[in-house]
Amino acid sequence: MSEFPYLENPEEAIAVQRGPAPGGPSSAYRTFGETLRGMKTTFARILEGPVTIQYPEQKTPVYPRFRGRHKLHRFEDTGYEKCVGCSLCAAACPADCIRVVAAENTPDNRVSAGERYARIYEINLSRCIFCGYCELACPFDAITLGNEFEISEHNRDDQIYTKDMLLSPPVKEWPVADRDLFDTPIPFYKSDS
Ligand code: SF4
Ligand code: SF4
Repeated sequence: MSEFPYLENPEEAIAVQRGPAPGGPSSAYRTFGETLRGMKTTFARILEGPVTIQYPEQKTPVYPRFRGRHKLHRFEDTGYEKCVGCSLCAAACPADCIRVVAAENTPDNRVSAGERYARIYEINLSRCIFCGYCELACPFDAITLGNEFEISEHNRDDQIYTKDMLLSPPVKEWPVADRDLFDTPIPFYKSDS
């Protein structure tokens, strides 16, 4: 017996590959079986009921690690901005969409807890790819990505978010899926921020 029997009888090998010839009782039986299988799937879906989500009235929870619009943070006790204008986030950004201009804190004008603060902090969200590198690069947890994603605009300029916009609470709150089900373990950089 050859190691490759199909080489000895190629016609038979081709017939096996093609399957039964069309027509005849076996073909009708197979077609009937496949139709029944399809109908079973169809009726199972009908019994499940409608699954349409009435967006935007109905909000589907986003996953806990979903990366949406950025947020800048303040210290809760003092109210100082956490950002010290170091520009590490801008250096880490692969889309080059963060602009930071730092200035010195003075006794009369203390904005952050460090020596300097971000006088200008802008993110061009039309270029952002929501990779989260800025959040990872920040040594002070000053910037995080939230779960807001309805940020489309008619004008590109409106997609440039200023520091005041990023410091403000999000305009829309979105439900977040259960962390215990979808986010284990929580990365350390998210657990405290
Ligand atoms: S999420 Fe990524 S692309 Fe967007 S600003 Fe941060 S580093 Fe840049
Ligand atoms: S957000 Fe963080 S990394 Fe970016 S400038 Fe401010 S302190 Fe530096």
